[in-house]
Amino acid sequence: MKYFSLLFIFCASLFADAHILCYHRFDDPKPKYKHTNISSKSFLSQINLLKADGKKFVSLSSITTALKTSKQIDANAVSITVDDAYKSFYEKAFPILRDAKIPFTLCVYVEAIDKKYGDYMTWEQIKEVSKYGEIALHSYAHKDLTKLTADELKKDTTDALASFEKHMGFKPKQYAYPFGLYNIDVKNTIKSFGFEAILTVDSGAVNVQSDVNQIERVAMSEETDFKLSIAVKPLDITLQKPNAGARKTIKGSIQNYTGKTIKVYVAKGDVRTLELKEGKFETTVDMAKVNSKHKLIFYTDDHRYRAKLIEKD
Ligand SMILES: [Zn+2]
Repeated sequence: MKYFSLLFIFCASLFADAHILCYHRFDDPKPKYKHTNISSKSFLSQINLLKADGKKFVSLSSITTALKTSKQIDANAVSITVDDAYKSFYEKAFPILRDAKIPFTLCVYVEAIDKKYGDYMTWEQIKEVSKYGEIALHSYAHKDLTKLTADELKKDTTDALASFEKHMGFKPKQYAYPFGLYNIDVKNTIKSFGFEAILTVDSGAVNVQSDVNQIERVAMSEETDFKLSIAVKPLDITLQKPNAGARKTIKGSIQNYTGKTIKVYVAKGDVRTLELKEGKFETTVDMAKVNSKHKLIFYTDDHRYRAKLIEKD
């Protein structure tokens, strides 16, 4: 059993929170994609809302560089990322971003481009897009990486890098997990390839305390509560080192939230409501039963604050 450790997310209120948005498809008519699709009309209106709200569009690199050098991040920074490299990005969203000079990062599912799957962009189109935004890696075969052996995962990443570099002429700086799925082994293997940043779709904001190898993004679709997503703040949790053994007593305190309870997601069917006494909470977790991502996710009832705790790497 791997032991659980502490990703301390503390004193976050002292730091500014940036948001990284994650989009997929644009104007797709098929209802089965509704969780990953947004109309270009809504996309444009989100951009305009963000602008009106005083948000600043920045590149993903500028956020990750700030994270790496522990520099302050602009509280109003927003970065747009788009996964998979669907043709609909090229046709619908790219022109909007290009014309408005808004930075973005496109995360490429390499096999789909290599094998010319119908819904996807071509390498030529990706090259054109790279003049205006960053191009990141999104695996070769777009599998659930937690189901691959270490060798399979290394091969997938090596294959993806080889094709990407052959076509693009440079090494991608960032990596985004397919479906946002990972665990500690996946994280360590992808990290060993030396990417500047690794992107999840764990919902939340980023600030100077965030881990560049586990960056939160807010998944956007037609159905997302946009205003709520963009208002999410990191929960300032301080955790005490848990006891040794399979059953851990998790004790901690919360600094920037004054409610009476906090929720913690342990596993499917095991979401607990913890009482806060002067901001302090305590619960016992059977490590064998923690969800597949080996994470505890803390959040408030109104979903405005979130934090997570992951195994030590
Ligand atoms: Zn994807």
